[in-house]
Amino acid sequence: MTTAASATSVASPLPFKCTNCGRLQPLSYGGGGCPVCGGVLDLAAPLVFDPAQVDRRAGIAGLWRYRHTFPLPSEAEPVTLGEGGTPLVAAEVAGRRVHFKLEYLQPTGSFKDRGMAVSFTALRAGGVTETLEDSSGNAGAAFAAYAARAGIKARVYVPAAASGPKRAQIAAFGAEVVAVDGPRSKAADAALAAVKAGAHYGSHIYNPIGLAGNATAAYEIWEQLGHAPELVVLPAGHGTLLLGLSRGFKALRAAGLIERLPRLVGVQALACAPLWAVNRYGREGLAMAKEGATVAEGIRVVRPVRGDAVLAAVQESGGTFAAVEEADIVTGQNALARLGFYVETTSAVVWAVLAPLLAETPGADVVVLLTGSGLKNQAA
Ligand SMILES: [Zn+2]
Repeated sequence: MTTAASATSVASPLPFKCTNCGRLQPLSYGGGGCPVCGGVLDLAAPLVFDPAQVDRRAGIAGLWRYRHTFPLPSEAEPVTLGEGGTPLVAAEVAGRRVHFKLEYLQPTGSFKDRGMAVSFTALRAGGVTETLEDSSGNAGAAFAAYAARAGIKARVYVPAAASGPKRAQIAAFGAEVVAVDGPRSKAADAALAAVKAGAHYGSHIYNPIGLAGNATAAYEIWEQLGHAPELVVLPAGHGTLLLGLSRGFKALRAAGLIERLPRLVGVQALACAPLWAVNRYGREGLAMAKEGATVAEGIRVVRPVRGDAVLAAVQESGGTFAAVEEADIVTGQNALARLGFYVETTSAVVWAVLAPLLAETPGADVVVLLTGSGLKNQAA
């Protein structure tokens, strides 16, 4: 049985664990992968959700109602801009009622604020004063905003081609912006080189604490619907939101609050769809995965750092991956806007899969996460 005491025990001094060699690391760790074997770090303990510990006091906004689920020291003061607590809005799609979770209504205009709020709370509590990130835009903007809020100096490596409004947003928060020529993976390589030289890496991809922040979207969906949906559809690049949702729903199941995990459907752009390819064709699918040009720049990720875990999460849920043509992404952006949802192209990949998915699942409750604001796209 889960007790309040075990639920708070997640605030261990060494909350991160290498998925390869098992070595533990502290909350302020900033080396990217494991310093010994290079493996990916994950949370050392599963997330624990205790409904009795949800903080319903007035003045506790957004995701901080779920603070008991975060591996943070109890004395850490939240670094917050009011993130989380996004609306869940029903709309009719192909004759069915579908719920849209408006993640783009976060302080910096994307879901990334969930992970960053928890991450920067941890970094400030750990005494970190400077950190860096690489991003195609949304993560960089959230990183820069929460760094500003925390009083931590930030540097963000971005692909030179990343759309203008996102870069402007990162710079506005006072972060140093380093534009790197070439595809998204080149910005990641430049960041890793700086980390090798000793800089602190606050990466939303390598640092696993963001998963605990992203998991709060699952708790909110469950609270807002009053139950778990059958299907959850969202864009997937590195898949950190998908993985966070999986962890969150698993915590709800472990607490006896839901019976089954929702089927998770990760949507990629066909031009760069490694998760879809591997899920469909096995390891041979990797050879097909290319970092092709796509208007969905936020999910143009050819080497998802947590790819194995993301694939396992989708398969465990009974879900799947989909890959969408470029023309369908723009069509989807327009269709969502006609429903009143102004989202960026990356978020619009979900549209093309909805009608076929609804036809295959009569009567199923479907939740779609709309991850980033249309205000972030460069004007055409
Ligand atoms: Zn290791």
